[in-house]
Amino acid sequence: MSILMACKNCKLLTELEHCPVCKSPTTKHWSGYLGVIDPEKSEIGKKLGINIPGEYAVKT
Ligand SMILES: [Zn+2]
Repeated sequence: MSILMACKNCKLLTELEHCPVCKSPTTKHWSGYLGVIDPEKSEIGKKLGINIPGEYAVKT
């Protein structure tokens, strides 16, 4: 099982060492899983500034 890393900038969860969206470094120290299907309708997604559907960390 691979370890998920969270982008320090946009909080996207990925297995890569750099975020595929914003190219920022990722960290394995994160908490709070958030799945965003429709960012327009997700209140917590809006708070975190998420505008692309995906899997995110709440805290990094
Ligand atoms: Zn990112």
